[in-house]
Amino acid sequence: MHLGFQFSGSSRYLREVRMKFKEVPQIPIPRRRELIDSANEARKLQNRAARGASYGAAVLTLNDNIFSAGSFFSSTHSLSLHAEHAALVHCALHGEPLIKAIAIASDDPETLATPCGLCRQLIFENARQSGLNVVVLTLREREVSVESTIVELYPLPWPDRKPRNI
Ligand SMILES: [Zn+2]
Repeated sequence: MHLGFQFSGSSRYLREVRMKFKEVPQIPIPRRRELIDSANEARKLQNRAARGASYGAAVLTLNDNIFSAGSFFSSTHSLSLHAEHAALVHCALHGEPLIKAIAIASDDPETLATPCGLCRQLIFENARQSGLNVVVLTLREREVSVESTIVELYPLPWPDRKPRNI
């Protein structure tokens, strides 16, 4: 079985996906604990009661501040925001859009709450702006179950596009 990537096509795309990221310096253990606890606490911040699991996320910004969010649900489902998405909006609204790390919590004992593909794209775009290989902490039962980086989780991102004014 072939597990590597075979690239062909746009060299611009290859340059983008092979962009070199800086590794995030070790996060001090007390601050890491606060990030984990914030993600767990944020499960209570959902905008409405949901069936099934609750999700929370917390981000650590370049200024070492923590912003968290719970999932934001809509009856349409397609308008819902995942907790990771909402946490990224939260820090941006406070003037600190770039992050070093994100922790994601769920109370679902069956499923490991790694970020979905959409959230991986958003986290990757954040890393692309900062040049930092964002640390992703996936929690289970209030502790880190998987520690990874966004480049490990999402090696083939959507190409970079500048936002248009709307
Ligand atoms: Zn998601």
